[in-house]
Amino acid sequence: MAHDEPQATGPTKLVIRNIGLMLSGALEKPILDADTIVAVNGKITAIGRAKDVDTEGATTVVDANGTTVAPGLIDSHVHPVAGDWTPRQNQIGWIDSFLHGGVTTMISAGEVHMPGRPRDVVGLKAMAIFAQRAFWTLRPGGVKVHAGAPVIECEMVEDDFRELAAAGVKLLGEVGLGGVKDGPTARKMVGWARKYGIQSTIHTGGPSIPGSGLIDKDVVLEADTDVIGHINGGHTALPDDQIRCICEGCKRGLELVHNGNERSALYTLRVAREMNELGRVILGTDAPAGSGVQPLGILRMVSMLASLGEVPAEIAFCFATGNTARMRALDCGLIEIGRAADFVLMDKAQHSAGKNLLDSVGLGDLPGVGMTIIDGIVRTQRSRNTPPATKVPMIVGH
Ligand SMILES: [Zn+2]
Repeated sequence: MAHDEPQATGPTKLVIRNIGLMLSGALEKPILDADTIVAVNGKITAIGRAKDVDTEGATTVVDANGTTVAPGLIDSHVHPVAGDWTPRQNQIGWIDSFLHGGVTTMISAGEVHMPGRPRDVVGLKAMAIFAQRAFWTLRPGGVKVHAGAPVIECEMVEDDFRELAAAGVKLLGEVGLGGVKDGPTARKMVGWARKYGIQSTIHTGGPSIPGSGLIDKDVVLEADTDVIGHINGGHTALPDDQIRCICEGCKRGLELVHNGNERSALYTLRVAREMNELGRVILGTDAPAGSGVQPLGILRMVSMLASLGEVPAEIAFCFATGNTARMRALDCGLIEIGRAADFVLMDKAQHSAGKNLLDSVGLGDLPGVGMTIIDGIVRTQRSRNTPPATKVPMIVGH
């Protein structure tokens, strides 16, 4: 298990050449006409045809071998606890396993599985600050885990949000998992959070486990969080008319999760497409959870939506990359100059009926991951978790 982030010593220049297909992560232009990417010191500096970009002086050269390069996948909804361990299913190494599923960035929706989780205001603030610090210091396999997402309680006052923000907390955990379950209180606190630059999300739908509660469309719309967390339920979804009401009643992010109701995810996607608002759709796993820990959860969502949701595969990849990055103001998620050099290299799985990667995903197959790169550094080669890719990239020079 790779628990320590490989550190670059001195300046680095990564060249990825011979790329067969480049997915940008951007809905407005999901496929780029380019076969080479250059990244200096972890940031993308050039994208183009090999003859047009400066590849001299590379410290690492990757021959993509005609495979597909996409931005590293972003899981918009995870529940980390501490290190690469989850008590929810007693599992060690789950974040590293997700990296093998192409996930390079994760967003915490609350460290709610912490054994003995404090619910008093001083305790919950301390835990959020601890989680934010701990996951920024320790990156399992190099994965960027944005954690430190306190679950709001009724006793909190505006000054608590100011204090959390000043200490580096940038997220709220799912509204509704703590004592605040009513619209007016949630709206007031979400407003305080927003005032101090803290993003918010909400637990939409029925209770996830004994002890959690129902959050319906009225509470969701009144709370007005930045992201409508698992609009397809976690697992129990709201009725379709309530889902439509939420989609039409606000402009916030529509998060579809693996550990939710798949039919409701497809319904939400259809409504978003009808409204011409696919830019609001983002993906998460909501793992670890009662239904387990799914290292391939984001790829499975992309495949499910592309094969059953009537969206092209290259668009479905945007839901897991550029859409999330834009909504959550991250510097990754798009193949664009100046962005973080976080990539996943994939090809169609061996023996897939699809002609190529996009075709195979459109048929509902999972791609094979051949390599992941974070901050311009190769983190994994052939995935131990996906079906084997037909072609795999190679490191050809240092
Ligand atoms: Zn939830």
